[in-house]
Amino acid sequence: MKKRLLTFAAVMLTLGAYAQKFDITAIDDNEEPEPQTSSVRAIDTVNTDDKYKKIVLFEDYTWKYIELERPNISDEDFQDAWEQEHIHAYMDVTLASLPAEVDLLLTDSLHGWACPIKGPVTSGWKFRRHRDHKGTDIALTTGDTIRAAFDGKVRVIREVADAGGYGNLIVIRHANGLETYYAHLSKHLVAENELVKAGEVIGLGGSTGRSTGPHLHFECRYMGKPFDAERIFDFQNGQLRDTLFTLKKHYFNIYSHYGQTDKESSQTTERVVHVIRSGDTLGAIARKYHTTVSRICSLNGFSATKTLRIGQRVVVR
Ligand SMILES: [Zn+2]
Repeated sequence: MKKRLLTFAAVMLTLGAYAQKFDITAIDDNEEPEPQTSSVRAIDTVNTDDKYKKIVLFEDYTWKYIELERPNISDEDFQDAWEQEHIHAYMDVTLASLPAEVDLLLTDSLHGWACPIKGPVTSGWKFRRHRDHKGTDIALTTGDTIRAAFDGKVRVIREVADAGGYGNLIVIRHANGLETYYAHLSKHLVAENELVKAGEVIGLGGSTGRSTGPHLHFECRYMGKPFDAERIFDFQNGQLRDTLFTLKKHYFNIYSHYGQTDKESSQTTERVVHVIRSGDTLGAIARKYHTTVSRICSLNGFSATKTLRIGQRVVVR
């Protein structure tokens, strides 16, 4: 640095006022390159109160702050219906009040994405064992890292004891109205109200809650309503299916899933009626149509002890 200053002073004296018109870097071209700080080996990184700011320690006892990239969102994006007492938000928003379809921009040059975990899907969005399976199960090894799908804010953290079947659960809200759920975790690494960046490690996979083996149960919800998360991610290959996702109202039906044509999906919302024949029972009808007795009862407004008449029409979906 001293040499550069002397050179500069000499040039200034020689050229007087005209020196200001000279490009200083051009003068530097004739100098020997100065040692780069990067050649001094970093030996450790220390966290600060701000998770996007770290202190790097070098072997020559110097240190410096480094700034990591921050999520391109602000707290103001998350003020509406910010629910923390209950796991699910927007419970007062009815399906009828939602538009027929809504375009959701999932990623752009300022907002990244990450597949929460790459792996084989062991169970998808479907009606399963007498109940709705509203998420996608991805096999993992306990302790595997789970990443935030998009930039967002942690709305809910629940421990094993109070999340029911979800076990250790994280719910993240994203600025476009989507929410993502990460369940059965062995550990969570973020706190409620924390801003997270797409790809940030938020927890470790596990088998807590109602689970028969280590896996991630991942859900996507819009305005509190779940739909098939495989419409957004190809978990097997760890890919986002598209940058723009058009969410259609019929996607919220449990029988509407990724891989169907638009017609097949929209037909899932059409009512199916069963005509009672001799020997029919509600339990047998429920099994036949892959639904539950309680759902049939609520669709028809009668109780499970209702006596069925031959020829009676019963809505089963
Ligand atoms: Zn599941």
